[in-house]
Amino acid sequence: METMTKNVSVEKSKTSKISEVDFNNLSFGSVYTDHMLVCDFVNGAWQTPKVVPYQPITLEPSAKIFHYGQSIFEGMKAYKDENGDAWLFRPLENFKRLNKSAKRLAIPELPEAYFMEGLTTLLQVEKDWIPQNPGSSLYVRPFILASGTGFHASPADEYKFIIACAPSGAYFSGKVKVLIEENYSRAANGGVGYAKAGGNYAGQFYPTQLAIEKGYNQVIWTDDNTHEYIEEAGAMNIFVRINDTLITGPTSDRILDGITRKSILEIAEDQGIATEVRKITVSEVVEAAKNGSLKEMFGAGTAAVVSPIAGFGYQGTDYELPELDNSYATQLKTYITDIQYNRTEDKFGWRYPVE
Ligand SMILES: *Cc1c(COP(=O)(O)O)cnc(C)c1O
Repeated sequence: METMTKNVSVEKSKTSKISEVDFNNLSFGSVYTDHMLVCDFVNGAWQTPKVVPYQPITLEPSAKIFHYGQSIFEGMKAYKDENGDAWLFRPLENFKRLNKSAKRLAIPELPEAYFMEGLTTLLQVEKDWIPQNPGSSLYVRPFILASGTGFHASPADEYKFIIACAPSGAYFSGKVKVLIEENYSRAANGGVGYAKAGGNYAGQFYPTQLAIEKGYNQVIWTDDNTHEYIEEAGAMNIFVRINDTLITGPTSDRILDGITRKSILEIAEDQGIATEVRKITVSEVVEAAKNGSLKEMFGAGTAAVVSPIAGFGYQGTDYELPELDNSYATQLKTYITDIQYNRTEDKFGWRYPVE
């Protein structure tokens, strides 16, 4: 059965798994919907994307993804409001960042229409999979991998762009205890830290395991050169509140340009919260923790939106953060999710209808 929606063809799956899914007990990103979008780069061009039944993909052992890690991804969510209408949040920003990552990994850039029409067509087909329970959403994972073959270390000549989706429950990480990293790095000047390149995350796993063995939940990455500056919290951007000022580091080669990060900055400024975008030193955070001016630290990213930090370890000492009633983390998370779920006016123009 083939039908054309805009330019994207749709091949419907014969059966649906949706009745097997317990929407009241969803974990994060571990069950997948009935369909996926696939778009191939062959003969020097991206071909028309198609929605097909969710299924395994076949690759040759010599596919370059396996040897040279040419792969990039994005993470976004689709939300359903009380009326059953579906929304995305700033999806063009994900598209632009995917192409920024593509360029850095020598992957051919994707046309905007293929991304946007592919995405919205897939989400229309999967609309019933977008959960309506509070805090739940459909996690959307666009990615590109090098399917072209060869054992020589050079860019592949064939790629696959895929979007797969996973209905996901509210992401409550609880308050996390973090370790400020003094040895390992996730990114370096001139490197690929600003790209959502698969290998960046593989490289984080081992230092994170070491931190977990020491009783922490997550690593705070510092700059690779001096380890004196705080840069990211796991795979999230980091915010620090000293007294009443909200501070985050400037984006760079090493710091990913998070959509949650920049949305939080705009909301905070709009709400009259003082913000600073500047380098944050480990020593000022330790000093602020000691003298009581360190009020909050939190990670910011699509999955958790805001992930509050309860305390941090540094050079063998643990520091605790205070429990605040009306924290910036809570205020900002409420504001941003109210926009995402269409519970409030969207004066920034960030909501994007799935239609
Ligand atoms: C994806 C990601 C973020 C958050 O980006 P969002 O667009 O807000 O989801 C932050 N840091 C790293 C390293 C990331 O991979």
